[in-house]
Amino acid sequence: MSTANIDHYIGGRVVAGTSGRAQDVFNPATGSVTGRVAMASRSEVDKAVAAARAAFPAWADTPPLRRARVLFKFLEQLNAHRDELAHLITAEHGKVFTDAQGEVSRGIDVVEFACGIPQLLKGDFTDQVSGGMDNWTLRQPLGVVAGITPFNFPVMVPMWMFPVAIAAGNCFILKPSPIDPSASLLIAALLKKAGLPDGVFNVVQGDKEAVDALLEHPDVMAVSFVGSTPIANYIYETGAHHGKRVQALGGAKNHMVVMPDADLEQTVDALVGAGYGSAGERCMAVSVAVLVGDVADKVVPLLAERAKTLKIKNGTALDAEMGPIVTAAAHARITGYIELGVTEGAKLVVDGRGFRGTDAGKGCDKGFWMGGTLFDHVKPGMRIYKEEIFGPVLGCVRVKDFGEAVELINAHEFGNGVSCFTRDGHVAREFARRIQVGMVGINVPIPVPMAWHGFGGWKKSLFGDTHAYGEEGVRFYTKQKSIMQRWPESIGKGAEFAMPTPK
Ligand code: NAD
Repeated sequence: MSTANIDHYIGGRVVAGTSGRAQDVFNPATGSVTGRVAMASRSEVDKAVAAARAAFPAWADTPPLRRARVLFKFLEQLNAHRDELAHLITAEHGKVFTDAQGEVSRGIDVVEFACGIPQLLKGDFTDQVSGGMDNWTLRQPLGVVAGITPFNFPVMVPMWMFPVAIAAGNCFILKPSPIDPSASLLIAALLKKAGLPDGVFNVVQGDKEAVDALLEHPDVMAVSFVGSTPIANYIYETGAHHGKRVQALGGAKNHMVVMPDADLEQTVDALVGAGYGSAGERCMAVSVAVLVGDVADKVVPLLAERAKTLKIKNGTALDAEMGPIVTAAAHARITGYIELGVTEGAKLVVDGRGFRGTDAGKGCDKGFWMGGTLFDHVKPGMRIYKEEIFGPVLGCVRVKDFGEAVELINAHEFGNGVSCFTRDGHVAREFARRIQVGMVGINVPIPVPMAWHGFGGWKKSLFGDTHAYGEEGVRFYTKQKSIMQRWPESIGKGAEFAMPTPK
């Protein structure tokens, strides 16, 4: 079978890799190699930065309304090609097609938000701060900015970044995950069709070499990163060391508290969807169910039943609920965690390791398949509780009351998402106020904030201080300038040596 070359996109055209390094891209459902992605060298990154830098002055000078019009055209393109993007996601990531469609849709939300850039960039003005003097602030783009993105949302996560960055007048370099790189090139083609000037959006495929080149490049002003916590930490420290703005979103261990008064059917639906959807490979996946009081004895058997009967199929099947694991390496890592959980003494209620590709359908025997796994009696000291597994493994922790649930979650090193299922308004309010987590759901298992609210966790789930997209995204990609102005008619005679004060 022939495989496609997946190249870079620099200065408005696809550019073949010249580093001599490339990596296989797989279809995780079949285990077959479908492409070879180029791995950029430092000099290829330099070319992308040079193209972005060359495009910057004209793009930054383009009125925000005209930049927004390009994004409106891009929206039209996205809407016309949304299923094509979703198919690319399923083919290289493995997530089921309906989930991939949802991913594209949530990315499009951010493009719609970025279309409002004229309003978002509107500055502040104070008339008459002193006799004949006015003061105003405006926000200007940074220049060349970069985005480094994870495998698990090859469309949505880049769209958390570049629509806002380019709407604000920056030029952008995307370094996608080499695991599922193809969507980045379709996005580039759609931006070109929308009329985006060459060089404003560029893609360099690659790994650490490309990332380090971006982090160290003096012409890259800011770096947005989404990925695992150790790499987020590295990006934050290295980027800051090189004088850049950095927002680095990291890993997660998201808890869902089930109070004794929660609706059982809704709770189980939520846990199954949020635990096993996208094979648990979401930074907002629920990986820990915190079962309060006697609710555990009711919830665990219901969960077990559902975990055993998940429809696990090639993601192209429209009724599939869960697809394969993204890579053979991820499969091995998750399998290792299941073994560890048994060794650590958690009760393995459902073991996903028995699921075979042949169970998933025709042509899937060599894919990276696994079923849903359920552990009960998980304890806070266990590594399967503390560490991010990033697979279809749901652990249940039993606690005596609400206070213990809150303490447990607040003591965890991650703080990305959390939710609480209850019918009690007071409990819900207390939960939202006291929990040390950035994104909270009340009877909502995956509380990914809308495009105008901004996305970001707390603690080890985010390094930096601004969240992705929303108004914080606009702030991240712009710098504020304050201007004070007066005219000769308002200037008194003589030099002033004292600190100026309003007159
Ligand atoms: P990853 O950290 O392995 O990779 C992320 C990006 O960093 C990729 O582009 C990769 O090529 C690059 N990279 C990998 N190793 C590097 C290194 N040593 N030096 C420089 N760059 C390197 O993450 P992943 O496996 O692609 O994605 C899954 C992780 O992302 C999970 O931990 C998940 O929780 C996290 N995630 C977080 C969020 C969030 O919003 N907080 C969203 C999605 C995913």
